[in-house]
Order: sequence, then C-alpha cells, then structure tokens
Amino acid sequence: MYKKVKQYAQNMGLAVDERAGLSYGLINGYFVLIEQCPGTDAKHNVYLWAKPGNIQPVPATLDYLNQCTSRFEYLQSTSYNGAKITAQFQGLGFKWGKNYVPCLDGFLKEITGYCQNNGLMPCCESCGTEHGLNLYQVDGISHMFCSGCYQKVAGQIRENTARKKKQGSGNVIGGIIGALLGSLLGVAAWVLIYQAGYISALGGLLMVICAMKGYELLGGRLNALGITITCIISVAMLFVAEYLCLGIEVYKAYNEYTRTISMTFMGALEDVPLFLTEPEIAAAVFKDLAIGLVLMVAGAFGTIKQTYKSNTGSVNTRMVAPVTKGVQAQ
Ligand SMILES: [Zn+2]
Repeated sequence: MYKKVKQYAQNMGLAVDERAGLSYGLINGYFVLIEQCPGTDAKHNVYLWAKPGNIQPVPATLDYLNQCTSRFEYLQSTSYNGAKITAQFQGLGFKWGKNYVPCLDGFLKEITGYCQNNGLMPCCESCGTEHGLNLYQVDGISHMFCSGCYQKVAGQIRENTARKKKQGSGNVIGGIIGALLGSLLGVAAWVLIYQAGYISALGGLLMVICAMKGYELLGGRLNALGITITCIISVAMLFVAEYLCLGIEVYKAYNEYTRTISMTFMGALEDVPLFLTEPEIAAAVFKDLAIGLVLMVAGAFGTIKQTYKSNTGSVNTRMVAPVTKGVQAQ
C-alpha cells in the first residue's frame, strides 16, 4: 500500500488492512473504502455505498460525480449505480507524489459532505437495506452487503463449487486418448526441432500443453487425476521423442557414412541402446532430456495453476469488517 495513503488513512482514523491493500472507515458518517490497486503505488479505487434519499435522484448524483472528475486532478473516472459510488484515482505527472493525497482527501470530504447534505443513505448494494451491513470481499472484489444478501452470494458460490465437484473426473479414458494425441504433436515438434538443429527440448513445453489441451477436449475437466495422467504421459512421450531422434541419427549415420551396410529405420531404432553405451552420446541425451523436463515443468506450472483455479471453482469470500451505521442527515 502506498505509504502516504496509508498514513493519511491512519490520520483519518480509518482501519488499515495492509495485506489486502484496503483502508476503510467512516468519514462524515459515511463508510468509505480506499483500495490500493496492485502493481503501482499511484492507483486507488474509492468506494462509498449509499442510496438516494428523497432529495437527490440518481442522475443528479451522477452529474455531481462528473463535475468532480473535472475538478479533482487525479480523479480519472466515477460511476454510481444507485447503491455504490466508485471513484478511480491515478497519480500522473512527476508532481503526483506531492498532490495526490490532498486531492484524495478533498474528494473524500466533498463526496461524504454531498451525501450528508443530500440525505443519501448507506445501504446494502444488492437489496438496499440500511441495516446489518458488512464489508465483504468476494473473489477479490469489495462489496457492502447485508448478511442476508451475503449468504445468498456465498450460497451460490458453494452451489457452483459443489456442481463442479459433482461433475467428477469427467471421462478419464477419453482424457487419456486426448492426452496421448496431444502429446504426439509434442513428439512431432520435438523431432522436427531436433532436425532443424535447435534445442529440441522446446518440444517438451509444447508436449505438456498439448497433452493437457487434448485431455480437456476428449476427457472434460482437467482435475488432479487428469493433471497426473497428462504429466505421466508427457514425461513418457519425452523419452519416446528423444529415442526417435536418436533412431534417426543412427539411421543417418549408417546410411550416409557406411555405405556398405544398408539399414532400415526399424533396425536403427533397435540399435539405439547400443549407441547409448557411448558416454558422449549418453551425456548429450541426458542433457536434452533434462532441459526438456525443466521446460515441461515450466509449461505445466502455469497451466496447472490456472486450470485448477477455474475448475475447482474455489472463490475466496470473507467478511472484512462490520459497517457501523453512519449519522444521517435529513
Ligand atoms: Zn442486502
């Protein structure tokens, strides 16, 4: 979290959740949340949850927010859906470090003052109730819900997860066939790259990715079992690919250098183990395989992480803080 914003939040008596990049609390009786955007110090989202009272309808508040966007230098955009005000701040230019926090402070004081003067009421962003509000995070997005609405959202997420679990392992046989077919593409790539004289191990990367795609295409969900199967198949096919390359080398060697013996490709394949007893060849093969495995792990890691997240449907939900009801102006 940008240290000046953190300091400002603390001075304002807001709570600071450094790990989540959130600071929140009451300003002028309204609950506001300042959210640090990841990756850069100079970007924050500000949220305020309130619905219109009897004085200003939603369009009037939108107009007001538009005016704010032109008045506050670092306020890039605003939106309001009748329950949630969102304001995006970004520090630009070389003087932003000096003027950013005063700009943020000015906006927060104005917007909460505006809400107060116009009778906007803190509310649940889903049903609009003013009672029993809490700040929640659902899959990294902040929401203000009443506990009833949160239960509903959490329930839907639980259902989704359960449904995905129930789909089970999908069609494992289909998956194995798909992974084998996919890995054959990797084998072809490995052999072709080898013939072209580049690092054939690059094929390892392609092999594991193709195997996983193949598994998904014919087997469905790539779960822990699917990932294990595709990894075993990929590693096995890595050896097949390297073996084929050696066979081609042996075949070439026989037919190009020793014209006296004619040798079929199958015969060359049978002779590969003989050549592997040569320490020099064995070392080169070992190097190829090692690089192939490393690239395979690299290729698999990202895919596994992503696949696992999207397939298990595991979504983090948590309550961040209870929201004390603000002072109301009538
Ligand atoms: Zn609600």
